[in-house]
Amino acid sequence: MRALAAPLTRVLAPPTRASYSRGTRGRARIAAMNTTKTPPHDGDVEPWYPIGTPGKPWTEAQREEWRASVEAPRRSYADEVLAKLEPLKSRYDVFKYGALPYDANDPERYPLFAVRTRGFDPSNGKPCVLVTGGVHGYETSGVQGAIRFLETKCEDFVDDFNVLVAPCVSPWGYERVQRWNARAVDPNRSFADRSADESKFLGAMVDAQNVGTWMCHVDLHETTDTDETEFRPAKAARDGEYIAPDVIPDGFYTVGDSEDPKPDFQKEIIDAVSLVTHIAPDVDGKIIGEPVTQRGVINYPVRALGLCASVTNARYVTTTEVYPDSPKCTDDECNDAQVAAVVAALTHVKRVENI
Ligand SMILES: [Zn+2]
Repeated sequence: MRALAAPLTRVLAPPTRASYSRGTRGRARIAAMNTTKTPPHDGDVEPWYPIGTPGKPWTEAQREEWRASVEAPRRSYADEVLAKLEPLKSRYDVFKYGALPYDANDPERYPLFAVRTRGFDPSNGKPCVLVTGGVHGYETSGVQGAIRFLETKCEDFVDDFNVLVAPCVSPWGYERVQRWNARAVDPNRSFADRSADESKFLGAMVDAQNVGTWMCHVDLHETTDTDETEFRPAKAARDGEYIAPDVIPDGFYTVGDSEDPKPDFQKEIIDAVSLVTHIAPDVDGKIIGEPVTQRGVINYPVRALGLCASVTNARYVTTTEVYPDSPKCTDDECNDAQVAAVVAALTHVKRVENI
């Protein structure tokens, strides 16, 4: 067994010419979540993962080996999430929308819950808003921030919006502090075809609300140090690809939709969160390898990548990325940063759309 965050190295075969670019400090660097088909280094040691063979995608047996290596829960979904939804039942419509089929002995081991404002009705004239957390189960403040939003701020918006919150889309990953689901699939790359259980259940639940056009969707995430030490190496190993080291940004940023980036909307979120925690600086004009389009903002083609941000047709879409590993930021502040982002998003939409 290995420690989750232990640096993992393996000696690779002699490198071929790499298809990577060099930063100004001479360090090999590629886009954070990207990989290459050839070893992207000019040394003889590359961060690697202890499952699989460099350059060869995982077999089914290796996927099962991975699952066995992470199977033991490290925290309780029932205690940390479901118990916090109980008191919300007196204020909101809390409902179950499925259960993840990852425990053969107990099909109700991972029930999925969402929370609606009372009287949620697309025909009542109020625009509809979606907030999602825990699409990546290990990103704690996405889950706890969504719950805190419900506890503290959501009711401030009930006169203006129908609000739907799915606070923990990936409870199996939450309990194991894992990015992938039990099948070694990234839920946040699985919304184009809804091929993961998490994207299938969430997508069906969102569709069932019968909303014509959603006004806003805020998807709450984190970027953590384990992205670099664990999850990027795991992804490269799973896919038979290679990575070069990258820089985890120290601070908050958002990801907009490159098809419709809404810079004023993103700015209002960044400005609000900057009062709670620090904003990520760019490195050579980039954050996780993507060009920074404005302070603390990068854009992805969210629909093409199958991100959760594409689960609705919302006019205003953002993905928050809190950095929880900074010595300058407590867990509590991370949760507050998520709440501040949602509040700023709804405040901006309310003002700009004259709601
Ligand atoms: Zn994430």
